[in-house]
Amino acid sequence: MTPQPNPQAGAAVKAADRAHVFHSWSAQELIDPLAVAGAEGSYFWDYEGKRYLDFTSGLVFTNIGYQHPKVVAAIQEQAATLSTFAPAFAVEARSEAARLIAERTPGDLDKIFFTNGGAEAVENATRMARLHTGRPKVLSAYRSYHGATSTAINLTGDPRRWPNDLGAAGVVHFWAPFLYRSPFHSDSEGQECERALQHLEDTIAFEGPATIAAVILETIPGTAGIMTPPPGYLAGVREICDRYGIVFVLDEVMAGFGRTGKWFAADHYEVTPDLMTFAKGVNSGYVPLGGVAISGAIAETFARRPYPGGLTYSGHPLACAAAVATINVMEEEGVVGQAAAIGERVLGPGLRELAERHPSVGEVRGTGAFWALELVKDRETREPLVPYNASGEANAPMAAFGAAAKARGLWPFINMNRTHVVPPCNITEAEAKEGLAALDEALSVADEHTV
Ligand code: PMP
Repeated sequence: MTPQPNPQAGAAVKAADRAHVFHSWSAQELIDPLAVAGAEGSYFWDYEGKRYLDFTSGLVFTNIGYQHPKVVAAIQEQAATLSTFAPAFAVEARSEAARLIAERTPGDLDKIFFTNGGAEAVENATRMARLHTGRPKVLSAYRSYHGATSTAINLTGDPRRWPNDLGAAGVVHFWAPFLYRSPFHSDSEGQECERALQHLEDTIAFEGPATIAAVILETIPGTAGIMTPPPGYLAGVREICDRYGIVFVLDEVMAGFGRTGKWFAADHYEVTPDLMTFAKGVNSGYVPLGGVAISGAIAETFARRPYPGGLTYSGHPLACAAAVATINVMEEEGVVGQAAAIGERVLGPGLRELAERHPSVGEVRGTGAFWALELVKDRETREPLVPYNASGEANAPMAAFGAAAKARGLWPFINMNRTHVVPPCNITEAEAKEGLAALDEALSVADEHTV
């Protein structure tokens, strides 16, 4: 579709937004949101007719791109037949979505509790773990993001927790492995893995194993920097959790549904958690949906005792119909394989090649359609291009990098000193190369801020 410029309509959208929309995570008067006129596949466009290649997949959720005709049609059809229904009924779209999800999740994660998004999935997973074990505490990693509701934001390790940290009982943070900025000062993946597992064991010992309900980890931490764990780490955590009767929760809200080139990131590591949260890619975000995949043992806890939690819109038919259509499209079009291939053939080699030429790139990490470039002032010292959690003037180098990318028609994902390359899983090779070329030019702007 060719975007038709309509600046007047854009101005009206923008004016109403500025007057009445209260935006997430923002100082309301300091933001200038782009008015979006439309989107298709890997692109969206504004009312001036300027197109952007979306290297962010929205907030890492449009795994099959925008406006896939089969998913749009499925939502329309569901709206025409049964647009809504309360959760305590068996509804075709809901049961079919649950079946398709359960068939793809690892191990015996065969029961699906539906939510409206990721944070509610995390809330319910931690509640299930607490009720299942009768224990109060949950351990989570410092470099993590688990959502913005009350428990989920307390579990989150990144600085968005700080102003929200009102001392919720029972959340304890620990360090997960990350060799590039090793909290354990390790110099090899093997050492990092060993030390991180020892640190987790020590944390559990000093907190009291009998007080710990769950350990929650993102399989591959996303927002915090796409840090693929060293081989053996997740299997080690699984083993520690088993030893102490602790529920192991993997948060796959961002990494799940094809993003990493497998259905779930856990498939890369051959680990099965007791609970697994998902959202985003489950239906490419066309209608809000998330959920928890539940193991047989935890499902058993609530077989004859009611689960004390629920949501009005749990398993909403429109959202579930979108999930059914999305999963079917992913199978028919081989989208999971496409993510693996674009990572192996284009994004991985292309980003590594950029790293060779641009002194601002400290490290390239990732897999599938899930990559991060860590931008630094100095490759030797690894000093980040901007300080941790920089804002305003201190963040100017990243802002300049972002502006340069947008000027070249690339919409980049930026978090602190990183840019994440997280396009739709079905981005074409030509589109990915177009994005890499724009990134190349934008990185030259970042290079100006290196030593
Ligand atoms: N967990 C992870 C790993 C996430 O990436 C996110 C969202 N970025 C969430 C939970 C929260 O999801 P939501 O914003 O849908 O509540």
